[in-house]
Amino acid sequence: MTRTTTFDTLLVANRGEIACRVMRTARQVGLKTVAVYSDADANARHVREADAAIRIGPAPARESYLDIDAVISAARRAGAGAVHPGYGFLSENGRFVTALEEAGITFVGPPASAIAAMGDKSAAKARMANAKVPLVPGYHGDDQDDALLRSEADKIGYPVMLKASAGGGGKGMRVVESGDAFQAALDGCRRESSAAFGDERMLIEKYLVQPRHVEVQVFCDRQGQGVYLFERDCSVQRRHQKVLEEAPAPGMPPALREAMGSAAVRAAQEIGYVGAGTVEFLLDADGAFYFMEMNTRLQVEHPVTEMITGQDLVEWQLRVAMGEPLPCTQEALTITGHSFEARLYAEDPEQDFLPATGTLTRFALDLEGAGLDGAQVRLDSGVESGDVVSMHYDPMLAKLIVHGVDRDAALATLNRALAALDVQGVVTNRAFLQRLANHPAFKNLELDTRFIERHEATLF
Ligand code: ADP
Repeated sequence: MTRTTTFDTLLVANRGEIACRVMRTARQVGLKTVAVYSDADANARHVREADAAIRIGPAPARESYLDIDAVISAARRAGAGAVHPGYGFLSENGRFVTALEEAGITFVGPPASAIAAMGDKSAAKARMANAKVPLVPGYHGDDQDDALLRSEADKIGYPVMLKASAGGGGKGMRVVESGDAFQAALDGCRRESSAAFGDERMLIEKYLVQPRHVEVQVFCDRQGQGVYLFERDCSVQRRHQKVLEEAPAPGMPPALREAMGSAAVRAAQEIGYVGAGTVEFLLDADGAFYFMEMNTRLQVEHPVTEMITGQDLVEWQLRVAMGEPLPCTQEALTITGHSFEARLYAEDPEQDFLPATGTLTRFALDLEGAGLDGAQVRLDSGVESGDVVSMHYDPMLAKLIVHGVDRDAALATLNRALAALDVQGVVTNRAFLQRLANHPAFKNLELDTRFIERHEATLF
């Protein structure tokens, strides 16, 4: 039996909507909350909502939210017994986790060894092959000789996808249509990967032509138990980045759901996982699924899972971090209704989605005016009217999450909620989200990862 770790103060090493969302549950479970902020965020919403706030450096993330020493010394000063990393920033940084451990502070997340096992896509694939989790056919070896990679790509058969082993956030990936185009694509990917991750290693995968992106939410406790909280479909992507997500994945036969769920739990247990994690798969039209990667943190899109299961994943994270067993068995978890999440970005779809800045003169969601019930709609936001949107960080302002008895009902609610969102002063992608959510092909479940690309003419 693992000893229970108690803490009464939680430092949230993040900003924006996720910092606010984590603190909301932390307060509900009776924890004192501590925010950290850079100079650009001295007046940010997450700072206003915290019980205490500590400055950790100037605006550039590298000198503040990514500064391990600054965050740890803030935790010490605040007397925080635990740190929640949110997503992005230090959330998947093994050095950070180790440094917290050395400082005697609990990390609300997996052990450093599990982060390391999944941090590198090539190494992760080798581990997953071990655990009999199906992989996209491809090459993920250490030998990185150009000629060898080319011959592996030839063997796999074109089109292939080149991916940076160290990659993430859609960077360092390219589809290669033919052998002739291979070398140029390889050079391009290596350059991008080296600039973004300081690492040039590549892996090659068979490029699946019309897959869906279906990911499974898993949870493990320190006692070694693991469950899955079903799946999310995140096929609506722009440049390999998610835009609209939903849960459950439409049209999943129960046997497939169970097969993917148990493969995901196996993946997590293979690496001694603890806490919230997401195992991402590509799903073929014929129901075959392939492991892509595991994200060792809470995902942006976790609320759609909360909406259909009625569970609070941040509460689960905090309980597991305290050493408690999982609150619920697999059998006790069920799916109720359907949920969507739309990501609202400060960006201009008219200008190739260039990030936008300015002062939000108004930021409001008029539920009553739209005849919407508060239980069906959730706005997870990092901003309020009057806030300034700077160019320093990720331009996501908020997430609009809805729930309905079924997919059609949830989609209708999403459309009404998007229309009820009143954002002024900063350009956003709201109209683009509305065109997506209103699109007949989206309603008709013509889902795959190239949805946006295919419907460009009617979406832009
Ligand atoms: P990142 O870690 O940068 O987000 P992923 O490996 O998760 O990259 O891939 C992001 C997206 O790229 C996927 O959701 C999918 O749309 C697309 N993708 C990745 N691998 C393949 C593949 N082998 N075939 C087709 N599409 C792929």
